[in-house]
Amino acid sequence: MLSFASEQEFQRTLLELARLKGWRVHHTRPALDRRGRWLTPIQGDAGFPDLVLARGGRVLFVELKREGRRPSPQQQAWLDALAGCAGVEVYVWTPRDWSAIVAILG
Ligand SMILES: [Mg+2]
Repeated sequence: MLSFASEQEFQRTLLELARLKGWRVHHTRPALDRRGRWLTPIQGDAGFPDLVLARGGRVLFVELKREGRRPSPQQQAWLDALAGCAGVEVYVWTPRDWSAIVAILG
């Protein structure tokens, strides 16, 4: 298993791999507001997955988590809604899943 120094490094490495493998990648990064709080400026329901990847007729929605963490109820609601859609792949990945991630991204 690869080890990552941080969640950011895991995410960065995963995005590099996805691009190398020809996936189109969407990722929304949180930003600091004036009070120094992290937030992601979106409209709509909170908890949307961290990544959307598309390649050759496949679309993946991926929530990234630190080891031992589970999706929040809002994140789980999105994952459940998306998993109920035809032709969609939905994953929750932690660094421990690296070998599966490599296989899925092909
Ligand atoms: Mg996450």
